[in-house]
Amino acid sequence: MALDDANWFTEVCDEGGTAFSLRIREKLHEEQSDYQHIAIYETETFGRLMVIDGFIMLTDRDNFLYHEMMSHPALYTHPAPRRVLIIGGGDCGTLREVLKHPEVERADQVEIDERVTQLAEEYFPTLTDANDDERAGLHFGDGIEWVRRSEDNSIDVIIVDSTDPIGPAEGLFDVAFYQECARALSSGGIFVQQSESPLYHTRLLGEIHNGLREAGFLDVLSLHFPQPVYPSGWWSATMARTDDLIGEPREDDIRDRPFTTQYYNYGTHMGALAAPEFFYRSLNGG
Ligand code: SAM
Repeated sequence: MALDDANWFTEVCDEGGTAFSLRIREKLHEEQSDYQHIAIYETETFGRLMVIDGFIMLTDRDNFLYHEMMSHPALYTHPAPRRVLIIGGGDCGTLREVLKHPEVERADQVEIDERVTQLAEEYFPTLTDANDDERAGLHFGDGIEWVRRSEDNSIDVIIVDSTDPIGPAEGLFDVAFYQECARALSSGGIFVQQSESPLYHTRLLGEIHNGLREAGFLDVLSLHFPQPVYPSGWWSATMARTDDLIGEPREDDIRDRPFTTQYYNYGTHMGALAAPEFFYRSLNGG
């Protein structure tokens, strides 16, 4: 069946030589903010959809996969995550997951584009329902600058929930930025970054691993998980630690977690860490 442009949103992925389409009911909003083009659609089967510069950011139906895997593995690996910084993440889904952890005392989110958060509040209210938590700090500015101005040893977990490495997000994938993160993290601090598709973006994943090691991080690991609406349907988050080995996840705490999740549990955490052969080989230069 041919796709009728009026009823479908299509994201083209040049690296994969592929495209992914969602059937839409209507376009709810479209604007050019100071930083990017933002569009919101009502889809037939995935609820609402947010698109930035033509790239799918999230849908109602499957964002839980990404937001849970960007937050819980890092927070359940750190022995006592009290101070968390989220860079990007303007839809606030990662912030909501982070704030489910009672040991978190402070979660600052630094999003460059305030319009993303305002639109999330309007069109994705369930993602933003922790924004008025007194532990949350919502800031609007450049995350690179924020980290540069952060004191040494002042953050336990940094989560980079950014767009792809182009435009304002480009510098979030640089060694210089990773070095500033390593400085701002406390001893045993954990860094985690969305790191694209294991299948389509293998070279970028290798660069992220090398960049983090060059910046002094130890034990760089990529977790992988399904994400139907992103290119290849398979996504990754790369995690690293400032010292020692990344410890085992806190299994008992994961099993006794005082909140519900839709994807994350001890099994999915451990499964996400199991590197497929090609993935392991390409990240180790084999
Ligand atoms: N889950 C999404 C994905 O991987 O496609 C990412 C979602 S979130 C909406 C990404 C956010 O990163 C965008 O709202 C964008 O404005 C923000 N961003 C990009 N570069 C940034 C920077 N240098 N500092 C802070 N936020 C940034």
